[in-house]
Amino acid sequence: MSRIPVVVIGAGQAGLAVSRCLTGQGADHVVVERGRIAERWRSARWDSLRLLTPNWMSRLPAWSYPGPDPDGYMTAPELVSHLEDYAGAFTAPVHENTTVEIVEATAGGLRVVTSQGTWLARNVVVATGTENRAYVPSAASGIDPRIHQLTAGRYQGPDQVPGGGVLVVGASASGAQIADELRRAGRPVVISVGRHARLPRRYRDRDILWWMERAGVLGQTIDQVHDARSARRAPSMQLSGRGYPVGLDALAARGVRLAGRLVAADGQRLSFADDLPATIGGAQARMERLMRTIDGYLAHRGGEGAGPADPPAPFPAPDGPAKLDLRRAGISTVIWATGYQPAYPWLRVPVLDRHGQIAHSRGVTSVPGLYVLGLKFMYRRNSSFIDGVASDARFVAAHLMMRRMAARAQSA
Ligand SMILES: Cc1cc2nc3c(=O)[nH]c(=O)nc-3n(C[C@H](O)[C@H](O)[C@H](O)COP(=O)(O)OP(=O)(O)OC[C@H]3O[C@@H](n4cnc5c(N)ncnc54)[C@H](O)[C@@H]3O)c2cc1C
Repeated sequence: MSRIPVVVIGAGQAGLAVSRCLTGQGADHVVVERGRIAERWRSARWDSLRLLTPNWMSRLPAWSYPGPDPDGYMTAPELVSHLEDYAGAFTAPVHENTTVEIVEATAGGLRVVTSQGTWLARNVVVATGTENRAYVPSAASGIDPRIHQLTAGRYQGPDQVPGGGVLVVGASASGAQIADELRRAGRPVVISVGRHARLPRRYRDRDILWWMERAGVLGQTIDQVHDARSARRAPSMQLSGRGYPVGLDALAARGVRLAGRLVAADGQRLSFADDLPATIGGAQARMERLMRTIDGYLAHRGGEGAGPADPPAPFPAPDGPAKLDLRRAGISTVIWATGYQPAYPWLRVPVLDRHGQIAHSRGVTSVPGLYVLGLKFMYRRNSSFIDGVASDARFVAAHLMMRRMAARAQSA
């Protein structure tokens, strides 16, 4: 068993960001990664995906987008290169193909058992992302086994989906983009719509994310919202970096059939809630609130240089079907774009809350030396975005270094 001050688990943007901060402070550490650097962007993204955040929004500690198109949207392989270049720039101590199997507390620190050996660490930073287990509603088990089912993380493109129609369940960023792509490929598509975030790609002549950053929406902190749990469960944005809108109005205009929330499945027969108008109305209200925040920011700042307000018109919501017979509708595949749930089977320290999530305050857990990064809305709203992880990484690295200094002072 080797001793090491810090083990970081996961070499996505979060693990690399904290590794950069630790390197800057001269802290000896390793980053263990079960696949390769940026593994999720290699193996859990569909082929045509472009980031929904513009290229300039890929800033990490001591790193930013160096290319010629700051307002463009990277493909997943381009982001892999971006993160590989980042790791290379500070010779990040990444151990690839190394899976963490156990983390447990011992008298000497945290024991980290991996597929390649064991470390005894004073500190461990969990940066394993939010996608460790796909959430699939229980209705899935009632669907006829002849219907092909897959999750958004396993979807690659229309050619890999068996012929015929597709039901996409979930209308956040992934569900809306996948439904759009399948429809463009000529497939009959039904999308089951739950809570979602409607947004125009551009507002007042700028990318909506530019305004959200400027107006302080992305930087809002968890103590500024009145319901932290609900804020952390906010759906991802119905945006695409591929140059066309993927809002429900656009999908419907392209022939995608909209349905309410899927509530039950019995073989080939599915039932949906009659909540489509209410869900669409809620998303419209939240979008209008955001526009008012942006307009308020502009009014305060003077408004120079901004284009005219051009909010998308309200979308007259259809009622949606109460029932759908998959066979009659020609649907042979169901794609679950219903999000993720936490999964830490290897973490044998008592830090999980009743929802199975790691309890923390700005990434610091109640177990001395155990930290977490990359979760949704950790401190700022954008903490699980590429562009948002830096401030959490700096905070965690600073806390960890203080802890090391205190331990050294005590033993001196
Ligand atoms: C479809 C999709 C599109 C997205 N698009 C954008 C976007 O456009 N812009 C944006 O800012 N954000 C986007 N996000 C959100 C976010 O940036 C990504 O989810 C990102 O991958 C999170 O980075 P991370 O470092 O926190 O976690 P991850 O990238 O998930 O990295 C965690 C790493 O930990 C490793 N790991 C897990 N368990 C273990 C273990 N036991 N032992 C060792 N290693 C382990 C994994 O292999 C993985 O490489 C998107 C998310 C999804 C799902």
